[in-house]
Amino acid sequence: DSVVNRIAAGEVIQRPVSAVKELVENSLDAGSSSVNVAVKDGGLKLIQVSDDGHGIRYEDLPILCERYTTSKLSKYEDLLSIKSMGFRGEALASMTYVGHVMVTTITKGQLHGYRASYRDGVMENEPKACAAVKGTQIMVENLFYNMIARRKTLQNSSDDYTKIVDLLSRFAIHHTNVSFSCRKHGASRSDVHSIATSSRMDSIRTVYGLSVARNLIKIEASDNDSSTSLFAMDGFISNSNYVAKKTTMVLFINDRLVECSALKRAIEIVYAATLPKASKPFIYMSIVLPPEHVDVNVHPTKREVSLLNLEVIIEKIQSVVESKLRDSDE
Ligand code: ADP
Ligand code: MG
Repeated sequence: DSVVNRIAAGEVIQRPVSAVKELVENSLDAGSSSVNVAVKDGGLKLIQVSDDGHGIRYEDLPILCERYTTSKLSKYEDLLSIKSMGFRGEALASMTYVGHVMVTTITKGQLHGYRASYRDGVMENEPKACAAVKGTQIMVENLFYNMIARRKTLQNSSDDYTKIVDLLSRFAIHHTNVSFSCRKHGASRSDVHSIATSSRMDSIRTVYGLSVARNLIKIEASDNDSSTSLFAMDGFISNSNYVAKKTTMVLFINDRLVECSALKRAIEIVYAATLPKASKPFIYMSIVLPPEHVDVNVHPTKREVSLLNLEVIIEKIQSVVESKLRDSDE
């Protein structure tokens, strides 16, 4: 049964960057304004995420890493209108089956914090009182120590640090009121990727550089006339001067970082038809839909979403993108 748990956990946490995504989403759910990540050995030796969010209450620590423990869902109806990013209570539990998890946290108004460590879904000892500043720090050590093959594959690829920086960059573009940083543990200060910005354009410039930022077109669309297609969209797309071999699509739906390959393909088609000489596009897009129209439950990693009325939404976005591209090309 521990083998079954481990296999299931290995599905939820596929590589270091998947653990970082879950931890950062928890930090964002906790209302943090600063999220700092440090990793050792591409995240295999250590992932450390520190935030200044609301912290975890002492009485919640014993059950924190049990499967299906979540503070974000109290009744079934909530499932239909999920606003926070987590809700299945599987991420932290999964990490304890494939790594060693240590949590340090302090809630508002407390004089000291608590530290607890977890393995295989259970807390190892009573939480110990400790000094702490605001918020929560979670450390995951020796990820996949008990999954030899996975560890070997990842050790050979070792590009997870790049993936983690890319992930935080995406969060930074969307959450302009939160500052993010990422560093290799033990590296000097100058190696810190620090991303704190004021406007969305600012953050795109910081993250992707001037060559991207100066070649963007603002897009916007909304529709409130019919309840079947209720949605709002805004973002930036690249113009014909932008050069890239691969599409970059940063997509947030209801403030969750997701992927929607059908939408991505649909936009690529518009580019190919409208600006045949242009490169592959850069797209940052934030879509807001009624929560009950978004199904984020299709896969444990919650990346690929399925949407009600996807065709309608795609058509609308395609026509906005097309007209903006035509305007900009004149
Ligand atoms: P979920 O996010 O789906 O609720 P997780 O396993 O990711 O499940 O987290 C379990 C619970 O731990 C969360 O519901 C939350 O109450 C608490 N938690 C985890 N990380 C943090 C954090 N950084 N700050 C505050 N609470 C946290
Ligand atoms: Mg979560």
